[in-house]
Amino acid sequence: MNATLLLIAETIDNRVTGTSLEMTGLAQRLAPNMTAMFALAGSDIKTSAEKLAAGTGIPVTAFEGPDLAFPNPEILADLIGSLVEQTDAEIVCYPHTTCGCHAAARTAALMDAPCVPAVESVEKEGDALVFRRSVHNGRLKTTAIPRRRPVVLTLLPGAFKPAGPPAPSDSPPAMTLQKVEKKATGFSPVELTREASGDAALEHADIIVAVGRGIGDPENLGIVNDLARRLPNAAVAASRPLCDLQWLPYSRQVGATGRTVTPRLYIACGISGAQQHVYGMKDSQWIVAVNTDPHATIFSVAHIGVVEDLLTFLPLLAEAYDEMKKA
Ligand SMILES: Cc1cc2nc3c(=O)[nH]c(=O)nc-3n(C[C@H](O)[C@H](O)[C@H](O)COP(=O)(O)OP(=O)(O)OC[C@H]3O[C@@H](n4cnc5c(N)ncnc54)[C@H](O)[C@@H]3O)c2cc1C
Repeated sequence: MNATLLLIAETIDNRVTGTSLEMTGLAQRLAPNMTAMFALAGSDIKTSAEKLAAGTGIPVTAFEGPDLAFPNPEILADLIGSLVEQTDAEIVCYPHTTCGCHAAARTAALMDAPCVPAVESVEKEGDALVFRRSVHNGRLKTTAIPRRRPVVLTLLPGAFKPAGPPAPSDSPPAMTLQKVEKKATGFSPVELTREASGDAALEHADIIVAVGRGIGDPENLGIVNDLARRLPNAAVAASRPLCDLQWLPYSRQVGATGRTVTPRLYIACGISGAQQHVYGMKDSQWIVAVNTDPHATIFSVAHIGVVEDLLTFLPLLAEAYDEMKKA
């Protein structure tokens, strides 16, 4: 019998997220030696579970209960722990998101299983599975071979493309619904709020000047705003640390947990090029990267690389642009 690959789909408002579907790419990669099944949770999840089974051709176990209206990694990890025992799953895979990482760590701890977060690729070497991932913002790669099963993974957004639609079949894959009673837990999410801003500046911009931690100080943002103001139809974006610091609103964050943008020109200033950032901007038509570190990972996706202090380069670029317009 084939080993089971258990994929845990994440939901928001009882709908499956796009990054969850990327796990079908992992299922395709590990087939035919492993058979995939999905698990997901929500307060009113039946319709999404049926849609997931029909759309992927993968059987689904859905957990439904009042406590599952908001993502609750503690309850989810407990449910998944029991499901792993029932199915003898050898690999348990969550998306590499805040809730996915939380639930993966708890699942691994409950089962005393090895945990490999932020997986970017998987190779088969004989009976062993070899997992690769980046560390130190993409400067180094590590390789891990778990020595026992089950193993719990989180899959980095963008690392795998979703598998195509399943071959037509007369019998859709099974969908099993399990009701979950109310349960006291140490972790209790109470609210899920959406970003209030209707800021669509990034979606409509032809040019994006994106700024990262290399800016050093919020006072230096003036230089970036100044350049963006001069360029036609340009907007300012940021890497996640700047939004976490509240130097720019989250509506300007580009990346796996922010916006995906495809402007004509993306100028990445003081951004190292971590995979989570690159995920959101790699399909821009032209990418210019400005970084003091000649080995920064961002240069591997840039069409033009400028090894320079952004505080020196951006004012010169603004000046040169003005001169060019006058000429
Ligand atoms: C689940 C998860 C989701 C994530 N989602 C996102 C996301 O959506 N978007 C995102 O951006 N990140 C995301 N991250 C964070 C991501 O992993 C990186 O930590 C982040 O992108 C790094 O931001 P940065 O490049 O600005 O900072 P750093 O990695 O610190 O890089 C700063 C860069 O600036 C350069 N520099 C320093 N001084 C100067 C100067 N004066 N001039 C020019 N260059 C200079 C440095 O050489 C360095 O390369 C996520 C992480 C996790 C775990």
